[in-house]
Amino acid sequence: MKITEDGEPYGLITNIQKYTIHDGPGIRTEIFFKGCPLRCIWCSNPEGQSYEQQIGIYPSKCIGLSKCSLCINSCPRGTDTPIKTEDDRLLSLQEIPECKNCFRCAEECPSRAIMIWGKKMSVPELMKVILEDRNFYLKTGGGVTLSGGEVMLQWEFAALLLKACRDASIHTCVESSLYCPTEHMEKVYEATDLVITDIKHMDTERHKEYTGVGNELILKNIKRTAELKKPLVIRIPVVPDHNNSEKNIRATGEFIRDVLGNHVIQLQLIPFRKIGTEKYATLNLPYPMGDFSPPERSVWEKNLLRLTEIMKEYNIPAVAGSSQKMC
Ligand code: SF4
Ligand code: SF4
Repeated sequence: MKITEDGEPYGLITNIQKYTIHDGPGIRTEIFFKGCPLRCIWCSNPEGQSYEQQIGIYPSKCIGLSKCSLCINSCPRGTDTPIKTEDDRLLSLQEIPECKNCFRCAEECPSRAIMIWGKKMSVPELMKVILEDRNFYLKTGGGVTLSGGEVMLQWEFAALLLKACRDASIHTCVESSLYCPTEHMEKVYEATDLVITDIKHMDTERHKEYTGVGNELILKNIKRTAELKKPLVIRIPVVPDHNNSEKNIRATGEFIRDVLGNHVIQLQLIPFRKIGTEKYATLNLPYPMGDFSPPERSVWEKNLLRLTEIMKEYNIPAVAGSSQKMC
């Protein structure tokens, strides 16, 4: 676990979203942890992948280097290092060799065209934000959801934060790929009320092709979660031409019925949406799915409903999307 110079443990947090309603019951505060061991090709949060603070650049917000250049002038690398521009707007500072991650460029930018992905936050700092909405949690049965990135990558800090929430009688949910050592997961579960996880593909080779890792450890940890009797919500991010075959859906249904029994309180089939492309651009990264686009909405919705009906044949409480009440 990372510790500040004052001895305070901290987590690296990409974002805090208030009033979320899809990741757990009621109204929630969602904390996004930075860093993830997977590289799902459909990921819509690329800023959550690296476990380092990063700069992201929104060229459309840049007021122009000929008028401003505060970013370049403040950079300790000097003003003569190459950068990428288009129509006088800053496109990339990554051309600068050995960026020191000092973030002076972001601090100096007057138009917030340069932002820092990842903020170091302690448990008391996060609890201050979380407790602001305590009345909403109480009225709606909501609480706090830790998401990412991958929560389990910062498991010690996550366990501390969840314990603080539980001590404050706040419902806790963890959304995780469960690609992590089982003992880390179990430590995090000590103060977790609900777990949300994905089954992205039942064929480990296809899983590896789409996410960078096989599915064995994930399925083992899902099984262990059920053995521990943790309320469990499973999601399938349904991506056309990737994991939406009837064969894969039935294999997932068989696994849930035969291995997880009645511990799954809801199975959500989540439709693929092409979002996050602008965030890839801010990081100077290519969008991994290129120009892939799903079939038109009516066709796609029909397909999703058909897959949901198949899941019901296995007596699984399956729903399309994540907006239906889960518990
Ligand atoms: S973060 Fe990198 S690009 Fe920005 S000022 Fe520091 S060294 Fe320069
Ligand atoms: S400091 Fe910001 S607004 Fe000014 S040139 Fe750099 S990116 Fe553009």
